Amino acid sequence: MRKKTRLIHGGITSDEHTGAVSVPVYQVSTYKQDGVGQHKGYEYSRTGNPTRFALEELIKELEGGCAGFAFGSGMAAITAVMMTFKQGDHVIFTDDVYGGTYRFVSKVINRFGIESSFVDTSETANIEAAITDKTKAVYVETPTNPLLKITDMKKVAELAKSRGLTFIVDNTFSTPYWQNPLEAGADIVIHSATKYLGGHSDVVAGLVVVNSEKTAEDVHFVMNSTGGVLGPQDSWLLMRGIKTLGVRMEEIESNTKSFVEFLETLSEVTTIYYPGLKNHKGRQVHETQAGGYGGMISFDVGSGERAGQVLRNVKYFTLAESLGAVESLISVPAMMTHASIPAQRRAELGITDGLIRVSIGLEDIEDLKEDFLQALRK
Ligand SMILES: *Cc1c(COP(=O)(O)O)cnc(C)c1O
Repeated sequence: MRKKTRLIHGGITSDEHTGAVSVPVYQVSTYKQDGVGQHKGYEYSRTGNPTRFALEELIKELEGGCAGFAFGSGMAAITAVMMTFKQGDHVIFTDDVYGGTYRFVSKVINRFGIESSFVDTSETANIEAAITDKTKAVYVETPTNPLLKITDMKKVAELAKSRGLTFIVDNTFSTPYWQNPLEAGADIVIHSATKYLGGHSDVVAGLVVVNSEKTAEDVHFVMNSTGGVLGPQDSWLLMRGIKTLGVRMEEIESNTKSFVEFLETLSEVTTIYYPGLKNHKGRQVHETQAGGYGGMISFDVGSGERAGQVLRNVKYFTLAESLGAVESLISVPAMMTHASIPAQRRAELGITDGLIRVSIGLEDIEDLKEDFLQALRK
């Protein structure tokens, strides 16, 4: 099965009892038992629910893993994965991980004695240098937010394997349509399905796929014990969104390439970050491990004032956090998603006041260009 077909026919796609071509929403909490312990595979919906299971089977197939899990948000998914570790364990993270992940590991899970370090994982040597005898895992995002830095997953997988570490990848930006970290040697893949997988800004969800029965048992144990599961209605909505992931990602890809070409012609725009640019550091690595460059672009318009002017005047770009939706979204990381990072650290990372991040959607790209231009030159 090729990937577009798998989006439609993967996992559990229909109802065997009625022939319905969409999985029913099993809006139920418990299941009748014929005798004590005699059930049809479901006992209680925190432990398992047929609609959620259909989604879990689908993401498992899309990522090529051995089990999938659906959580109430990306952060709930990340929390569950981190809770498979124990007091005294140490995990190495990409230095510009998603802000919520940074907050969780540096302000919450550290209180339970799980320690973390943040390094630029685009150089594998930095990971190697950060390994201690307590290190249990490496956790990577590629491309990152907002500077689209690339990490070589095969190299990290080799290092992790040789040192007995679990290799975790947050694959939210690329989606399983463009990138499959388990194929590159990762052990666990995480998604904020709130973004491209859902795709319509109408559901908050998180997914995990693992590559071994042992890890599956560990994740399911934490999931069932802590209870951050996705409800049946949102599971259904997510399956519906995933059916069109292929056409959306293809269209977003061509829209984004076209928008980058347009940005290159504007004198006000200085640096552009996009993995498809010839001079983008990591472009070649990205091309070996991903089939597309995705819909995220960051670029500098020179000053915070000009960035503010653009944000105030755009009509078709929605000023909002998040990404991966049908509508194009625009934000200024220094003032929004990355505002909690001290100004000096932001400068070191290259997150300037004039840096704008866009998530290109499915509007007519000519409208997006016209809209951006009028806002920039107002
Ligand atoms: C949004 C996001 C998350 C968190 O997911 P939620 O669904 O918002 O909880 C994690 N990682 C990345 C890369 C994200 O973009």
